Amino acid sequence: MSDLTVNNELETQTLEWIATQQHIMQQDLWALAEINSGSYNVTGVNKVADTLAQWSKKLDCELEFIDMPAQDVVDDLGQLNQKPLGRALRLFKRPEAPTQVFFCAHMDTVFPIDHPFQKITQLEDDIINGPGVADLKGGIVVMFKALEAFERSPLQDQLGWEILFNPDEEIGSPSSSKLFPEIAQRHHLGLIYEPSFADGNLAGARKGSGNFAVVTRGKATHAGREHHLGRNAIRAMADFTCAIDNLNGQQKGITINPGFVQGGGAVNIVPDTCTMRFNIRIEHSEQQAWCEDQIAKIVANINTTDGINIELHGGFGRQPKVLSPANQELCKLVQSCGKSLGLSLEFLPTGGCCDGNNMAAAGLPNIDTLGVQGGNIHSADEYMHLSSLTTRSQLSALILLRLAQSKDLSWLQRKGMEHQSC
Ligand SMILES: [Zn+2]
Repeated sequence: MSDLTVNNELETQTLEWIATQQHIMQQDLWALAEINSGSYNVTGVNKVADTLAQWSKKLDCELEFIDMPAQDVVDDLGQLNQKPLGRALRLFKRPEAPTQVFFCAHMDTVFPIDHPFQKITQLEDDIINGPGVADLKGGIVVMFKALEAFERSPLQDQLGWEILFNPDEEIGSPSSSKLFPEIAQRHHLGLIYEPSFADGNLAGARKGSGNFAVVTRGKATHAGREHHLGRNAIRAMADFTCAIDNLNGQQKGITINPGFVQGGGAVNIVPDTCTMRFNIRIEHSEQQAWCEDQIAKIVANINTTDGINIELHGGFGRQPKVLSPANQELCKLVQSCGKSLGLSLEFLPTGGCCDGNNMAAAGLPNIDTLGVQGGNIHSADEYMHLSSLTTRSQLSALILLRLAQSKDLSWLQRKGMEHQSC
């Protein structure tokens, strides 16, 4: 602790207390990461929510479970289905305090219940490998510890908070994204606990994203006897796929990725159905209209083919996160807190999306990579640095203490929200 330059005794005490919590944080992380909570494992996601509800007793806060509507999905056979999702959990405290912070962390992971990657393995003294240890169960542990530390301080009356634990971030927050505008309007800033980049730096601007599913339907016939009467759905999908892939490179910052295709069966039958899924990333919100327009033209063109019908589902779920002036100020605050801990933190743009996009779309400045330091996320090589449980909890605790101590938070002023400086 001797190399820390902190502003006052309270900050030093808080950081020292967090440093005594490393072992407890590791136990909490093990408990959470070894509950499978793949996005569609409703029982597992709900078990994580129940565990967090138990943990919330340490924070002495209010609690609400929120049922989430099922997700509409086009299955591999082109049929529209509904997939149930786990519940969201909302914790909140002191909604009357002058500064209000919206915390968010997702409970789901990309690893389904039948995935072989289910347990934590210690790789080195400071490094573990495990499902969701970085993305983002380590971040949940960090967030709780930072809030626990803040609640021990005499500054608590200056700052109220609300946490949203959502069940569906890894599939694009299809249901929970609808909660963001309402929650965002009662807060001044957002803090999200996605992992930092592997080198410890944080995410700044983020691209927007859209997920789409396309189904082509034709006519099945015997490939030998009546080939001329068949209408080949795979050929129509191939035309569609080439056409959208050709949009790549036409505008800077837009990428289109056909990522899944399924169709047909026996090779002596002209295939009558084909399903394809693709993702689009955009840098500016105006690019959404350009993409939608181009795709609509391609769909209309394929629909003129005799005997072929093409349906498009899905859309843009996340707007690009552009750093507003208030967001840039918030980045500076986080950098100065990092500096006090000996961390030199850069904010780097990324093509990836997260709920930071949803907060920004709701007008809320936010930092979305305050979780642990780790890497290889979304793979069975996912790892994290155990020591970052302490350093990142200290970082968040400092952010909260400095917000609560600040004499001037006018840069966080939001339209329609009276902010009283403390
Ligand atoms: Zn994540």
